[in-house]
Amino acid sequence: MKTEEILRAAKSLREKYAVTDGESFRLKNCNPNETDGLPGIRKIDSKELLDDGVRMMADLQDMLYAQDHWSILLIFQAMDAAGKDGIIKHVMSGVNPQGCEVHSFKSPSTEELDHDYMWRSMRRLPARGMIGIFNRSYYEEVLVVRVHPEILQSQKIPAELIGKNIFEKRQADIRQMEAFMSRNGTVVRKFFLHVSKEEQKKRFLERIDTPEKNWKFSPTDVKERQHWDQYMEAYESMIQTTSSTQAPWHIIPADNKWYTRVVVSGIIIDTLASLNLHYPQVDEKRKAQLQEVRATLMAEK
Ligand code: ATP
Ligand code: MG
Repeated sequence: MKTEEILRAAKSLREKYAVTDGESFRLKNCNPNETDGLPGIRKIDSKELLDDGVRMMADLQDMLYAQDHWSILLIFQAMDAAGKDGIIKHVMSGVNPQGCEVHSFKSPSTEELDHDYMWRSMRRLPARGMIGIFNRSYYEEVLVVRVHPEILQSQKIPAELIGKNIFEKRQADIRQMEAFMSRNGTVVRKFFLHVSKEEQKKRFLERIDTPEKNWKFSPTDVKERQHWDQYMEAYESMIQTTSSTQAPWHIIPADNKWYTRVVVSGIIIDTLASLNLHYPQVDEKRKAQLQEVRATLMAEK
């Protein structure tokens, strides 16, 4: 596919799936099974598009790294088995590992619980020129903790600070914090891989029935599934309150893995392409210096 065609496709996918103002957002209007964001692209044609996309991402990342001004933070949130690991593997497949860092956030450690909940994420924010990928993130604080508020008790927060609106306040703080990051050169893009409850069941059964996939399955995943509706409410509230132009959420249909990849890759490409990246300019003095060194090298016996 030609560069302009890929860029056009990437832009239209971003426009279709980005939420920049969440006020009227409703999860029920999003179809996890949809695959029609790019007219004419079906599973069978997606391979070429994805391969070309990976190459383009690699070129853009090279410039991002060389320019050393912007940082990219990609956040992935989802229910279990929605495909976070697979999509991260795909995104990483073409990029230079030196310019990319992935962090997976699990239940906080004792050391992490001795700090506020942002601390562990702040320490892992991408440096300039880098792409940082968060596999889960500080958003767990308004998702799993909201669904299981008893977790708050383990967070060592002074009791008088745990009020009725704690999750609304957290959402407001996160919004502010992301505004700060974006004003300082970190481009934040957030992805909710939206899988349906039926598809999750199918994938769990596959993990149980396929020996090579057994390791991916944990019985606690099924326990969390019993809170599905509460999770969906928490996700909807999170998207409503923390979507912004600088740090949009993208609601990615995740029932078909090939389509999830097409959409996420497209949005990342569009993000990088919108930054007007270029290799650092070489001034006249430096050009002359390079020529001098060249001449010395050529004169070597
Ligand atoms: P996979 O299952 O694909 O390997 P995962 O991201 O589900 O990946 P797990 O180790 O299964 O990894 O789960 C991590 C768990 O940690 C999740 O249940 C998540 O909700 C939980 N978690 C993450 N951050 C927090 C947090 N701040 N407070 C409490 N629990 C958290
Ligand atoms: Mg898990």
